[in-house]
Amino acid sequence: MYTVQEIRDFKGKYPKQLLHLAGSEMWERFCFYGMRGMLTVFMVTQLGLGDKTANLQYGAIQAFVYAFTFIGGVFADKILGFQKSLFWGAILMIAGGLVIALSPHSLFYIGTCFFIIGTGFFKPNISTMVGQLYHEGDVRRDAGFSLFYSAINLGALLGGILMIWVGKYHSWPLAFGLVSIVMAISLINFAFTRKSLGTIGLSPLHPDMPKKKRRFYEIAVYIGSLIAIPFILKLVTNTHYTDLFMYIIGPATLVYLGWEMRKFNTKENKRLLAALVFVIFSILFWAFFEQAGGSLSIFALNNVHHTLFGFIPMDPNIVNNSANSVFVIIFAPLMGLLWLWLSKRKLEPNSVVKFGLGFLLLAGAFYGFYATIFFADADGMTSLDVFTLGYFIITFGELSLSPIGLSLMTKLSPQPIQGLMMGMWFLASAYGQYVAGLLGAGMSTADPNASNLTKLVSYTNGYHQLAIIALILGIVLIVISPGVRKLMKGVH
Ligand code: GLN
Repeated sequence: MYTVQEIRDFKGKYPKQLLHLAGSEMWERFCFYGMRGMLTVFMVTQLGLGDKTANLQYGAIQAFVYAFTFIGGVFADKILGFQKSLFWGAILMIAGGLVIALSPHSLFYIGTCFFIIGTGFFKPNISTMVGQLYHEGDVRRDAGFSLFYSAINLGALLGGILMIWVGKYHSWPLAFGLVSIVMAISLINFAFTRKSLGTIGLSPLHPDMPKKKRRFYEIAVYIGSLIAIPFILKLVTNTHYTDLFMYIIGPATLVYLGWEMRKFNTKENKRLLAALVFVIFSILFWAFFEQAGGSLSIFALNNVHHTLFGFIPMDPNIVNNSANSVFVIIFAPLMGLLWLWLSKRKLEPNSVVKFGLGFLLLAGAFYGFYATIFFADADGMTSLDVFTLGYFIITFGELSLSPIGLSLMTKLSPQPIQGLMMGMWFLASAYGQYVAGLLGAGMSTADPNASNLTKLVSYTNGYHQLAIIALILGIVLIVISPGVRKLMKGVH
């Protein structure tokens, strides 16, 4: 078996285990984004939900999926370890697909609950293992996360296109069944390559603990997560409970983190405070960024022309759903290499400044979306090229923040709570999704019969405001960067 030391002493740009983990994550994201793409369409066309209810329900499911990563992270830290968590998460997701495939109309919500818990066990813990492939201070870590991020988006792109196509044009049971097949591929890939991880991600329970007792704890987690399903079902299907859940879970995690912090020394706790700064800013980032699934998708539907570069026929919703992934796949490895190149020349911006740049680019992107108003005709239709440019810019913002954030959580968290902190990082995404829906709703016109032009003016005004706020946040981050860096103590 490889030792952690041997793994971390790897030669070259990337450890080989990164590719294995990226492979499993790619297939998991295929399912996640495939499901995400199908959710609203399925709810509206098959379950007969109105647009508003479908949107709220969609927001609730997305928020729960990300919120449960926190719980998955904690159980991995305390009992299962990252590897077993991954297995359990994948099994639950496979089961979820099968449950829905059996009877999509009646079992949709129950199957979705399996997904919520499954993703919670899978998603944060695979990212944490990526971080564990590196020594503290290894400058290759951010580049590794950038490559991992490309794999995420490759899966997202393929799943986002294929699943909805199978569901809409062939069969919904088949589409949901496909989730199980693809997730099984992810699991098999992990099972076959797991050995190369050596002791990384094994159970944190003390080796001296009797085997029976270990088994008992593990089985309790498995059974406990199954028992949770009916409760989650209640929470998801009633969006008032979702609100309540969102009000409680964030403060509760902060209290829990505070409790855990008593075990660490001042240096470690300062690093944790720095991690919290990143987590809080990321909520705002995702709240803006996730307009993609909501207001931008409605904007694409109503206000954007169907030709790219003046002659290529193109559905703006296809651009809306795939441009970001395509740009990430192309540019994430290049960004990774750019950070390496800059670091060799001692020019690499530190992580706080990278976050700040992420917000400045976010601002640039929303100025782009706002600028579509200057290209609009009297019918309220505007340029797909300018719209796509917005996505091009936002991708660089995402790449300056999201893979860096994953990497930072692994650098700033002490070993015993790495899963918890990665879970908090994704919990921020849950809040981001939640706030994104509120922002999108606030931007839309109240009048359902409003003209296209009125809708365009209303959304672009909203985008203008988001651009200004993102700009201010970017500047704030860069200004406070020396203070945050002090907290980070030696972490770049
Ligand atoms: N797109 C990335 C993923 O799916 C990040 C998502 C997020 O943190 N909101 O992993």
